Amino acid sequence: MDQYDLIAIGAGSGGLSVVERAASYGARCAVIESGRLGGTCVNVGCVPKKVMWFAAHHAHALAEAAGYGFDVELRGHDWGALKRARDGYVHGINDWYAGYLERTGVTLLRGHARCVDAHTVEVDGRRLGAPHIAIATGGRAQVPAVAGAELGITSDGFFELEALPRRVAVVGAGYIAVELAGMLRALGARTSLLLRKDEPLREFDALIRESLLAALRADGIEVLTRTRPTRLERLPDGSLRVERSDGAALEVDCLLWAVGRAPNTAGLDLAAAGVHVAPDGTMPVDDYQNTNVPGVYALGDVTGRAALTPVAIAAGRRLADRLFGGQPERHLDYANIATVVFSHPPIGTVGLTEAQARAAHGDAVQVFTTRFTPMLRAFSAHPRETAMKLVCLGPQRRVIGVHAIGDGVDEMLQGFAVAVRMGATKRDFDDTVAIHPTSAEELVTMR
Ligand SMILES: Cc1cc2nc3c(=O)[nH]c(=O)nc-3n(C[C@H](O)[C@H](O)[C@H](O)COP(=O)(O)OP(=O)(O)OC[C@H]3O[C@@H](n4cnc5c(N)ncnc54)[C@H](O)[C@@H]3O)c2cc1C
Repeated sequence: MDQYDLIAIGAGSGGLSVVERAASYGARCAVIESGRLGGTCVNVGCVPKKVMWFAAHHAHALAEAAGYGFDVELRGHDWGALKRARDGYVHGINDWYAGYLERTGVTLLRGHARCVDAHTVEVDGRRLGAPHIAIATGGRAQVPAVAGAELGITSDGFFELEALPRRVAVVGAGYIAVELAGMLRALGARTSLLLRKDEPLREFDALIRESLLAALRADGIEVLTRTRPTRLERLPDGSLRVERSDGAALEVDCLLWAVGRAPNTAGLDLAAAGVHVAPDGTMPVDDYQNTNVPGVYALGDVTGRAALTPVAIAAGRRLADRLFGGQPERHLDYANIATVVFSHPPIGTVGLTEAQARAAHGDAVQVFTTRFTPMLRAFSAHPRETAMKLVCLGPQRRVIGVHAIGDGVDEMLQGFAVAVRMGATKRDFDDTVAIHPTSAEELVTMR
C-alpha cells in the first residue's frame, strides 16, 4: 500500500489547494479525482460562467452603443464559436493544473475514491494510506422529483449547449438561476424565470432583491412568481411542454433546473471511516475543518458552508498551514465573506443585511442608502439604476454590511470587504477622498 502524509479526495478548488500548500511544506501528498481536474469551478462553474457573463456583458454594451454615437448593425451571435473558445480556455486550465501538480510533486490518481477506514482510501482496487485525509468532493446540481424532470438540464447541461435555445425556462431563485437566466436573455433567448416564492436571492438584502427584480424585468425576462413545474413533456416538434403548479403551462425549447446543489458524500463509504454525515448529506466540521474522526477533514462545498471557490481554497490552505506549516491555530474565519452575483447589473455584498443586523442589534443599527443612474447609462434608452446600502452599528457606526447592485460593483467590492474586515467606520468611509467620476465614490459620500 502506498503511504502518504496527506490524501485529498477531489481535485477541485479545495482538494487542490490543500495538497498544493501541504506539498510546499514538504508533505508527501496524493489527490484523487474521478472527473475533470479543477472540479466544478474550472469546468462547470465560475470560469465558464464568467466567460458567458462577459459575452452577455458585450451584448448589453452593444445595445448601449448607439447612445454613444455608434452606428452598429448587429448581424448575429455565434454561440458555437463562443463555446469552442470557452472550452479551449477551460482545457488550458485543466492542462496547467496537471503540469503544476507534477512540478510540485503531488501524485494525481484518477478514479472514484472510497474510504476503507479512517486512514485508508481505495481507488479502483488500489489502496493508499495517510494519517491525514481531506474530503473535498464538492456537490452536484439537484433535480426535483417531477414527472419528466430528466427532460430538463442543469447548469452542467448549460455548458454543453451547442446552440442558444430560442425559448428557455430557468427554475430557481438562487444566484445560479439568476445568472444563467440573465446570460440566456442577453444572448437572445426568450427567458422565463420560475420562482417558488416572490423574489430571487431571498437571503440577500431587500434593496438588492427589489432592484434585481426590476432589472430582470427591464431586460425582458418573464419572472413568474409562486409557481413551479409539475410535469414536463416532450412534444412532437421537439419542444417541451411545462405544466405549472398555478395551473398554467409553458412551451419552451429548454428547461434549466437551478434548484440547489447536493453534497457528493454518497459513494464515499464514510461510514467505514466512522465519519458522521448530516441528514442532508453534508459533512459537519468544526472551525478547523475537523470531522468527528481525528485525521479526517472536510472542506469546500461538501461541508455545506459558504459554497464558493475562494472559501474552499482558503479553508484548504489554512488546513495545510495547520497540519504541516507549524501554525496550530490557523483556520478560516467564515465571517464577512464577500460575494458577487454575476447578474446584469452585477451584485456585490459583504457582511450583514439590514434585516440580519436589526434582528441581532435592534435600534443600534443605522442604514444609509442611495439609488442613482450611473453616468455610463446617461445616454441609454433603458437606463439602469445602481443601488447601494451601508449597514452600520452603534455610536461608532462600524460598517457591518455593504450591499450594492449596479455596473462595476463586481470589481468594486473586494476593497470594501477589506475595510469591513478591518472594522472600518462610516467616518473612515467619509474621510476617504472620493474617486471621481465613478459609481464607487457614492459609497464614501453617503448621507
Ligand atoms: C454554475 C456555477 C457557477 C458558480 N460560480 C461561482 C462563482 O462565480 N464564484 C465562486 O466563488 N463560486 C462559484 N461556484 C461555486 C464553486 O464552483 C464551488 O464552491 C467550488 O467549486 C467548490 O470547490 P470544492 O473543492 O468544494 O468542490 P469541487 O470544485 O466541486 O470539486 C470536487 C471534486 O471532487 C470530485 N469527486 C467527487 N467525488 C469523488 C470521489 N468519490 N472520488 C474522487 N473524486 C471525487 C469531483 O469530480 C470534483 O472534481 C459556482 C458553481 C456553479 C455550479
